[in-house]
Amino acid sequence: MTTTTTTHIQETLQNVYDKFKDVRDGEVASYIPELAKAKPDDFGISLTTVDGQVFSVGDFEKEFTIQSICKPFAFLMALEEFGRDAVLEKVCVEPSGDAFNSIELEPKTMRPFNPMINAGAIAIASMIKKSSRDCGVQYFVDKMGLAAGRKLDIDQAVLVSETETGNRNRAIAYLMLNCGIIDAAVDHALHQYFAQCSLKVNCQDLAMMSATLANMGINPVTKQQVFGLEYVKDVLAVMFTCGLYDYAGEWAYRVGLPAKSGVGGGIVAVVNRQLGISVYSPRLDAKGNSVRGIAVCKELAAHLGLHAFDFTNVGSSFMEWLTAAK
Ligand code: GLU
Repeated sequence: MTTTTTTHIQETLQNVYDKFKDVRDGEVASYIPELAKAKPDDFGISLTTVDGQVFSVGDFEKEFTIQSICKPFAFLMALEEFGRDAVLEKVCVEPSGDAFNSIELEPKTMRPFNPMINAGAIAIASMIKKSSRDCGVQYFVDKMGLAAGRKLDIDQAVLVSETETGNRNRAIAYLMLNCGIIDAAVDHALHQYFAQCSLKVNCQDLAMMSATLANMGINPVTKQQVFGLEYVKDVLAVMFTCGLYDYAGEWAYRVGLPAKSGVGGGIVAVVNRQLGISVYSPRLDAKGNSVRGIAVCKELAAHLGLHAFDFTNVGSSFMEWLTAAK
């Protein structure tokens, strides 16, 4: 990549940052007391290309908890460990059109609708929880560290807060025990899920993780194969249709990228074989998605022609844009 190109990308991020930096709409999540401590005005954007170029602006080193952005990665780990059929026996891949914490199962099979809402993610956590609590959590933390390219840790205060206040998730888990979706080690599965949500990351970590998905499971900087190639497409497909809760349809329509948001204020989007984007801004809209996160992704997708089906404009794809900028 030439210096002109890299300058152009950095300038684009800076312009988008400046455009939205004064937006104050939305509220910080408060249903978990620890999350309410986030600084509402924090704002960072990162973009990592599959050839390992990293671009960031704003509070990109500020740590926060990954929350629901853990879900696609946990789904990927379950697919790697158990294969497609065994995972689909426990969780469907249908958009629910409902909120992240909805208490409902698919009426015919009693499976959760998809792995991106809490029910599906708890079913996945039950599958990947391993024989001891520490073992399952450590496996997840280590693998996510490889995707981020640095060692990561759990935020213990958030984990305690999740555990103390997670009665709705407990209700969902017991409903799934009753329907034979998860085994009787309910507390163990919930611990795995709460710990996954409590992983501490920054915006740059998330962009590297999403670039790892874009790069067929290979971390673009360390060059390590973190995830097997076979199931990355499964995860991207489900992120595309279910990643933004009950905003997923409009997101696919307007932004057109596989993505996942979390109530910690993070959001990631994947441009397959090209790059990973992430935004951190903790003020959320009524559906639990970061207000500025959505605005930034819409702007970048429009400006750089990133929508998966955006083929009408000549030179609209990011790679063509890069070539033109050389
Ligand atoms: N830990 C949160 C919960 O399960 C995650 C929610 C989210 O980020 O959507 O309630």
